Amino acid sequence: MKIITVEEHFTDPRIVQANSVYGDTSAMEGLPEKVRQSYNRMRFTGERLTDVDTFRFDFMKEQKVDMQVLSYTSPVSDRVPAPQAVQLCRQANDILAEVVSRHSTRLAAFATLPMADPEQAAQELERCVKKYHFCGALITGTWQGQFYDSERFFPIFAKAAELDVPISWHPEFPDAKIQNYYYFSNAYSLQTGMQFATAGFGWHLDVGLHMTRLVLSGIFDKLPTLKFISGHWGEAIPFMLDRMDQIMCPQTTGLKKKISAYYHENVYFTPSGILSKDMFGYFVKVFGAQRIIWALDYPYIPFHSCSTDFLLNANLTESEKHLIAHENAEKLLHL
Ligand code: CA
Repeated sequence: MKIITVEEHFTDPRIVQANSVYGDTSAMEGLPEKVRQSYNRMRFTGERLTDVDTFRFDFMKEQKVDMQVLSYTSPVSDRVPAPQAVQLCRQANDILAEVVSRHSTRLAAFATLPMADPEQAAQELERCVKKYHFCGALITGTWQGQFYDSERFFPIFAKAAELDVPISWHPEFPDAKIQNYYYFSNAYSLQTGMQFATAGFGWHLDVGLHMTRLVLSGIFDKLPTLKFISGHWGEAIPFMLDRMDQIMCPQTTGLKKKISAYYHENVYFTPSGILSKDMFGYFVKVFGAQRIIWALDYPYIPFHSCSTDFLLNANLTESEKHLIAHENAEKLLHL
């Protein structure tokens, strides 16, 4: 069975270097120096991210993955002022396009966008889709604390809808205020606090809430054909949809539909390497196999777990497995 995975990360030393001269984002201000240093190390996983021909293709062979859709692992331009952000994203996308063009049957790509300048970001998305056949864009975090439900970011989403490509949402470090308030405690170690604030829980909720803000802003009423991809099984939000529908109904939100309806009609979910049978079963039952796309979160997935066997051995029909393994991705991403 053909396997396509869509949350598979990449970077290039030139981009890491260019980004690093701008220092920390505003989200990091107010965190202990030890935490900031540790987070900056987490941004870069060495050769597994930059290399294609050795580590990546070995991993794909081992995990029986036929095609990876690549994206920059952490925001390329989150701390870079416009117009340098525009230049840097163009360079990053050009590098990625060159890599993909060398292996066009095995690799595809999501663009990285200069969120500092939404009009330019929309144009960069169009350039990448039309010139390089990129599959959409992957966005992360906030722009220096600004959420993307702000009117100024609308051109990016309008362009994605116009081009018929999805926006994939990826976690990023929550703002220091949030981290200090919720996740650090004298009752457990700093290391545990850092994990709780980030990949252990906090940054998932952060990006999940951010996406829900877009839903509440009426983005899908304005752009009914827009599609989002939400990783890590929807970043915890799907489990609260019934409650949101109950309290925030169309009479109060002013939206055309219930909140859950947008998640059923405009959002695709991926496991992002969380290979839990119970979670998988829940999403197939509630949202259906037609809303799930496979993703492994290379290179962050534990390398001993084999995803393809997990999917092939799942309690699903053959046609459901084909949808999740490749057909949904082929349709949504025009592969
Ligand atoms: Ca990831």
